[in-house]
Amino acid sequence: MTNEPTHDKPIVLELKKITCSYDSGKPAVHEISFTANKGDIICLLGPSGCGKTTTLRAIAGFESVIEGTVLLDGNPVADETLHVPPEERRVGMVFQDYALFPHLCVNDNVSFGLCHLSSDDRRHRVEEMLALTGLSELGQRYPHELSGGQQQRVALARALAPQPVLLLLDEPFSNLDPDMTYKMRGELHQLLKNTQTTAILVTHDHEEAFTMADKVAVLHQGRLEQFASPETIYHLPASRFVAEFVGQADFIPGEIQNQVVTTEIGKLPIPKDYQGHHKVLVMIRPDDIELCINATQGAKIETRQFRGSENLYGIRLPSGHLIHSSAPSTQCHKLNTPVEVKIIATHTVLFEQT
Ligand code: ADP
Ligand code: MG
Repeated sequence: MTNEPTHDKPIVLELKKITCSYDSGKPAVHEISFTANKGDIICLLGPSGCGKTTTLRAIAGFESVIEGTVLLDGNPVADETLHVPPEERRVGMVFQDYALFPHLCVNDNVSFGLCHLSSDDRRHRVEEMLALTGLSELGQRYPHELSGGQQQRVALARALAPQPVLLLLDEPFSNLDPDMTYKMRGELHQLLKNTQTTAILVTHDHEEAFTMADKVAVLHQGRLEQFASPETIYHLPASRFVAEFVGQADFIPGEIQNQVVTTEIGKLPIPKDYQGHHKVLVMIRPDDIELCINATQGAKIETRQFRGSENLYGIRLPSGHLIHSSAPSTQCHKLNTPVEVKIIATHTVLFEQT
């Protein structure tokens, strides 16, 4: 696992090796550790069943931890023996299905967690939250009278109204259509940054994690594979699983000699700290490869996927390995065109051959 140095903003959330288990035996979440600093958006990313929701629920207090510690604002709220109940953790949650109260209008949904305030303060806070989420005109409506995007904004306003120290969001866009998802991602990002809200957002979509997150925690089978910035996750994945989960990745064999790895498509410097075996697999991303036409090298274009702003080419190398290369969509080449491939990566990512 790669850990990057954190900045000097105060730590809001700290997970220290937390393990959670349902009755079934095998832990759903195993020794997960990461921190969230004030104002950070952390995305928990991974495939279905990897433990994202369980981790979020353990932070909120809806699940207990059987080992490890959850700290909020420096105070332990859960460990093997301690379990501070959810309502005492000052954590706001936006559920996957929003979980609005169907029999309450928008105003009453948003003021639900504010009974500790005087009625004037409560009305003022609700007005503020509705203005923040663009719902000022809709306070009297009921949830069934709202679109999916509007319902999501109500859920967000309700979660933010009690001024939580931390906001948790479980797949907040999964009930929206793609157009709305893009719009709401932008809106949510801006709102969280404007209000300097510290947030943990669960998603299985790496593009969503990359556009939203300051740091991404990649989970796989209940374990944390990597916790790093989106750029590091993409360019320097800590494992093959991470490499393949966050984008197109090809792996070609290479052999290390004198600090250089030799592959079928060229030589590359090896990372300074690499100490593994001399037989390796080199990760190649489509943006690491440049194509030159009219070559005699023996590689050929085998596939082309048009992706709007770019073409993704599949190149069959003489050895039989397939690698991919992205090029602007203005560069359109026919299938079977012979090409020379050139590596333009700025760093080399190696995994041991198994
Ligand atoms: P994700 O949110 O990443 O899809 P979850 O945290 O929901 O994953 O689930 C992690 C693991 O725990 C899965 O194997 C899932 O089947 C199991 N699990 C989740 N909820 C329960 C439950 N209430 N009872 C038993 N097992 C559960
Ligand atoms: Mg889930």
